[in-house]
Amino acid sequence: LPELPEVETIVRGLNRELAGRLCLSAEILTPSIVPGRGKASQLARELTGRRLTGVRRHGKAIFAAFEKPDAPAVTLRVHLGMTGQLLFERPDEKPAPHTHARFVFENHPRELRHRDIRRFGWLELGSGDTGTMGPDAWLAEPEVLFDTLRRRDGMAKAVLMNQAVLAGLGNIYVDESLHRAGLHPRAPLGRVKPDRLRALCDAIRVVLAESIELGGTSFRNYVDTEGSRGGFKGRLRVYGKEGTPCVCGTVIKKFVMGGRGTHFCPSCQPAPRRR
Ligand SMILES: [Zn+2]
Repeated sequence: LPELPEVETIVRGLNRELAGRLCLSAEILTPSIVPGRGKASQLARELTGRRLTGVRRHGKAIFAAFEKPDAPAVTLRVHLGMTGQLLFERPDEKPAPHTHARFVFENHPRELRHRDIRRFGWLELGSGDTGTMGPDAWLAEPEVLFDTLRRRDGMAKAVLMNQAVLAGLGNIYVDESLHRAGLHPRAPLGRVKPDRLRALCDAIRVVLAESIELGGTSFRNYVDTEGSRGGFKGRLRVYGKEGTPCVCGTVIKKFVMGGRGTHFCPSCQPAPRRR
C-alpha cells in the first residue's frame, strides 16, 4: 500500500490543486528522505522558483515536472513506499510527526506536506524516465496488457506483482483480479489458455477502474491529498477476508506466497493440476 488506484487518486489531487503554480519554497525537514549526500538541499534549491507544469504516475511512482525559463526541466519523483502521504494543510497547522518535507505554492492557501511513518518511501530529483518498470497496468492499451502477460513463465501472482513486468499492482489488486478471473494465485501463467488470460486482463482493468472511481482502498493509513479515505474497501471480495464466505459460499483461504499474505477462494479459483 498504496498501489496504483491510491497513487492515481493522489496524482489527480495534486494536478487539481497545483498544476501551473509556481513553487515559492521547498523545505526538506528530514534530509535522509532524499537519499544521497547533499541531495536534500539540492532538491530544495532546484524546486524553489520553478513552476509545476504537471504531475503524472507510472506504476506506483509519482513524477512531478517543474520548469523555469532558460533552464532544463527537472522532475521530482515521489515513492510513497508503505505509508507515504502527500497532504494539503494550512501553514498554521502544526506539522504532524513524521512530516519530512513541505512545499509552498503561489496563490495557494495550503502547503503540500510529505509524511511517511515507516519511511520505506523517498523523494528524489530525476528524469521522467520510468527505468526498469514495465508498462503501467492502467494506462497500457488492452492489447499491450495481454501481450505483456502472454507466455510469461511463473506463477500468476508472482508475475503480476513483478513491477518490471507490469507496473502498479500490489497485494490487494493482484488478489482481487485473480479472484475475479477465476485463477489460482499459483496458476502457471504460461499455461493459462488465451480466453482465461483475456479474462484476467479484463479483471485487472475492471478492478482498477472501480477502485480509482472510489478513490482507492484505505486498509491502514492511506488517505488522499485532502485526508479522505478511499471507498473501495467495501468492494473487496477476497483481500483481508480469510475465514469469511466468498460470494459463492465457500470460505476464503489465506496462505503466504513470496512473503505476502495471499487470499483466494478454493472453489472460484481451483488449484492448478500438477504435471
Ligand atoms: Zn468463491
